Amino acid sequence: EGSVPHAFVTMGASGDLATKKIYPTLWWLYRDRLLPSNTTFYGYARSKMTVEELRKKCHQYMNVKPEEEDRYEQFWKLNNYIAGSYNDHGDFKMLNQALIRHENGIAANRLFYLALPPSVFKDVTVLINNHCMGKNGWTRVIIEKPFGHDADSSLKLSNHLASLFKEEQLYRIDHYLGKEMVQNLMTLRFGNRIFSPTWNRECISSVLISFKEPFGTMGRGGYFDQSGIIRDVMQNHLLQILSLVAMEKPVSIHPDDIRNEKVKVLRFISPLKLDDVILGQYTGDPVGEGDAKFGYLDDLTVPEGSCTATYALAVLKINNERWDGVPFILRCGKALNERKAEVRIQYRDVPGDIFGGKLKRNELVIRVQPGEAVYIKMMTKTPGMTFDMEETELDLTYGSRYKEVKMPDAYERLILDVFCGSQMHFVRSDELSEAWRIFTPLLHQIESEKVKPLPYKYGSRGPKEADAKCSEFDFRYYGSYKWVKNH
Ligand code: NAP
Ligand code: NAP
Repeated sequence: EGSVPHAFVTMGASGDLATKKIYPTLWWLYRDRLLPSNTTFYGYARSKMTVEELRKKCHQYMNVKPEEEDRYEQFWKLNNYIAGSYNDHGDFKMLNQALIRHENGIAANRLFYLALPPSVFKDVTVLINNHCMGKNGWTRVIIEKPFGHDADSSLKLSNHLASLFKEEQLYRIDHYLGKEMVQNLMTLRFGNRIFSPTWNRECISSVLISFKEPFGTMGRGGYFDQSGIIRDVMQNHLLQILSLVAMEKPVSIHPDDIRNEKVKVLRFISPLKLDDVILGQYTGDPVGEGDAKFGYLDDLTVPEGSCTATYALAVLKINNERWDGVPFILRCGKALNERKAEVRIQYRDVPGDIFGGKLKRNELVIRVQPGEAVYIKMMTKTPGMTFDMEETELDLTYGSRYKEVKMPDAYERLILDVFCGSQMHFVRSDELSEAWRIFTPLLHQIESEKVKPLPYKYGSRGPKEADAKCSEFDFRYYGSYKWVKNH
């Protein structure tokens, strides 16, 4: 958009998300000349600060290389910081005046990133709407989870936002939608004839979507305890991935065509029941090192005796013609043995086995992080004189296939999408309400009955009962597959 002025306003600029994520992302986008040329940056929060102080706070997250120093100086010259409250009309009028001073009066666009706790969300959105909407250009508002705490509170929030902004002005971030392999799901599924005809109940036995973190709450469990792992990871990130794996082919790649299909597939899913889930909470490992010695309940910020789950597995069923009877297993947890996010599509056993029970199922693995990869486990004749067989793989490892490509961070893609007005990778309000419909009854039951999570040891793969649930729902683990690294 050439020289049209753009203002990027970070509300809550003094906070954790702003300093660790938003400012570094803005700098990288600016460094790589991806932003409209006439973009200025504004930080707003109550803390009294200068741009220089803000810069010091952010610096350790910015990754500035020696040859980028000049550009880095330019970036900060384009920054402004304004101290003000979140509920004062005068302060927002002042913010608007500051924005107007940099605009040419003909056409100018504004982006507001709300990096604020939910408690001030309502006031701030009202005041932006009252005083800070661009008069001669578009205004877009970026918001972060939590989008409510359950179906009711989320609906209230959505109605509140809808009373102030149009849906096309709202960008609800789910940063998993900014990840390369999540964005690749559409191309894999709808761009390959070998996958599309087999993507159904005739050929697929189960789908396993996992998120694993190797660390616990690290002394900051207070915030986490109010949400728990289901709200923190499963109801948003994993369900978003599920909808991309399971949706029907959209009419086109237009964002609303895609989001229509995502909502539609969610509507085929019934609310979860307690029997469909396994809940876990990590305990300290007495022989572990450092943090691993401490269980969730040893975190002093966690309320005594808390029943909040740090691990969860849920089996979802999609009651449509494509997926009837195919379990979609979502799993996520903290303080596990590794960091990993992946999708595993497990195929059915080959009908009419002529190999005396030696066949293992095909599995398509889409690894989101770390080390993006797509691989298919398949049977092959063991090379050589024997007529034996074994599992091997067709393997696309991005690190070796795309050595020269710098993979952008999820936030870089998403913030750039907001500048471009592309809502493809953002969550629409009806998707959100379907997600809460599926999870709210379960969450309420867990909370009212204080359901006790199963203990699992810090650094383990999670509760044993979770593996049992996977095999009960037709996900088979053989333990015979051998991966040869760097072949
Ligand atoms: P934060 O650091 O706690 O808060 C951001 C700023 O808001 C603070 O610097 C503070 O600025 C102001 N603030 C804090 N508590 C307040 C209160 N009770 N009343 C009024 N103002 C208050 O939050 P954050 O971690 O940056 O997260 C911001 C939003 O993004 C939250 O909704 C969070 O759930 C979401 N989010 C964060 C992350 C992350 O990595 N941190 C990830 C995903 C989503 P002043 O005191 O200077 O006004
Ligand atoms: P696998 O060894 O057959 O294991 C499949 C999955 O089963 C594991 O990821 C593990 O996930 C789970 N599992 C492990 N122990 C289990 C047990 N006792 N009971 C039930 N489930 C168990 O195949 P793989 O994990 O796909 O591949 C093996 C290794 O090779 C991995 O490290 C993989 O990253 C690597 N590999 C890399 C590439 C590549 O980079 N392109 C390609 C192929 C393989 P959970 O712990 O999450 O349950």
